[in-house]
Amino acid sequence: MEQGDIGIIGLGVMGSNLALNIADKGYNIAVHNRTASRIDEFVEGAGKLKNQIIPNAQLADFVLSIKAPRMILIMVKAGKPVDQTIAALMEHLDEDDIIIEAGNSNFTDSERRFETLKRAGFGFLGIGVSGGSEGARFGPSIMVGGAKKHWLQAKEILQAIGAKFKGESCADYMGTGGAGHFVKTIHNGIEYADMQMIGEIYGIMRDGLGMSPLACSEIFKSWNEGPLNSYLIEVTGHVLAKIDKKTGKPLIDLIVDQAGQKGTGRWSAIAATKLGVAATSIEGAVAARALSALKQERVAAEKIYNGRQTGGKNQGNVEIAIEILEQALIAGKIAAYAQGFAVLKAASEEHEWDLPLASIAKIWRAGCIIRSKFLDEMSLALEKGNVQNLLVAPEFVTMMSNNQNALRQVVSLGAINALPTMCLGAALSYFDTYKMANGTANLIQGQRDFFGAHGFYMSDREGMQNEDWPPTLAVET
Ligand code: NAP
Repeated sequence: MEQGDIGIIGLGVMGSNLALNIADKGYNIAVHNRTASRIDEFVEGAGKLKNQIIPNAQLADFVLSIKAPRMILIMVKAGKPVDQTIAALMEHLDEDDIIIEAGNSNFTDSERRFETLKRAGFGFLGIGVSGGSEGARFGPSIMVGGAKKHWLQAKEILQAIGAKFKGESCADYMGTGGAGHFVKTIHNGIEYADMQMIGEIYGIMRDGLGMSPLACSEIFKSWNEGPLNSYLIEVTGHVLAKIDKKTGKPLIDLIVDQAGQKGTGRWSAIAATKLGVAATSIEGAVAARALSALKQERVAAEKIYNGRQTGGKNQGNVEIAIEILEQALIAGKIAAYAQGFAVLKAASEEHEWDLPLASIAKIWRAGCIIRSKFLDEMSLALEKGNVQNLLVAPEFVTMMSNNQNALRQVVSLGAINALPTMCLGAALSYFDTYKMANGTANLIQGQRDFFGAHGFYMSDREGMQNEDWPPTLAVET
């Protein structure tokens, strides 16, 4: 058997699918997994691709079975398992071999691994892979970070296995160090916001309009034919239409309303906060998932406040046109994506990554979870360059102007009828605050100067000013 063009460690859901994708594209692939039985199962299940797979249960033999300089992709559980795998692997590597770490890693870990491997004379690429198991098998979106020379070595294979949009590969180079994993993190933050906003619109349909899951499903399916066309809207249409085999009831009504999270949405919100960038919709989506986890507390609180009950007396007492819901979702989505791209722009400056914003929108057009028609329009707007914020890119100004009133209607209707719009509301407030020439931070500056002599600038004079403030009444203790 020939040597592998590339090796892969970790034959779990993602690793095994990526390995088959690589073999499908005509490459020979060496494979290794901590639990040896998984290697045998993988080879057995590989069908006609079996001949291109070089299995090895011993790490040293696995490394030798790859062409030098080697490219070894690691797809194991994120965190310590990645560090353990890298440490074990380093004992067998030769200079100029490249480790490609493809799990959901925190970008700070990728920065650290990049430096450690560089010092040891090895290459490191930290790549964000989005698209779930199906994406891994048939074409994910791939965001690559590391040294450009190592990207150029791995480019052919990574672009071959990446999703394609109008013939262009959705695998691209983002920048040095942890840039690839950072972009993947923000992708996931946007994904959280996108999902949450869809969830909030579903909530209005279910609890406000009293619509059945099937009726909601039909609406989402029809929206998938229009400007909201996207993977997540398509998925939503399917989920809402599914009937539970055991009970014959809509599955969605039986799924417990507690959303899981593995951390990337949270990392996204943390990154935005650290950079001092407003990402209210992403933060709102993370907060909504945190509140969703408090099932027992929510059940108790609903009783205390005699709250709106699903299927209860308040259901179906709201009036709003379905087109308004669609338009509100479009406006909310623009504001949330604007936030995500603002975080990317700030991080690019902070870390000197020179992130290719238009290419990021391009590689998200296919393969990944947030893939959509909308991202194609976004990439065209970003390609024109120097976009301060998507909200002021001409294409989006038109879209936002046409849809902002619908977002106002939905958020106000939600507020009055106790239908939560954590993320849509945050999107609207972000938009309104961003486009407000004269905000209210002047009062904050006055307060800060009052209690901390922090100073403030004035519109009619130069330099930092302080004021003499009166004493306050002592607070009794
Ligand atoms: P998985 O199916 O649970 O597989 C985990 C893999 O990690 C197995 O090969 C396992 O080996 C290996 N592993 C765990 N601990 C290890 C250790 N200490 N040392 C060596 N190997 C170890 O996971 P997955 O879904 O493929 O996810 C892999 C990575 O991709 C994660 O970072 C995940 O967050 C990311 N990701 C997943 C998705 C998705 O949709 N699933 C999408 C994008 C990214 P054993 O067989 O020996 O246990």
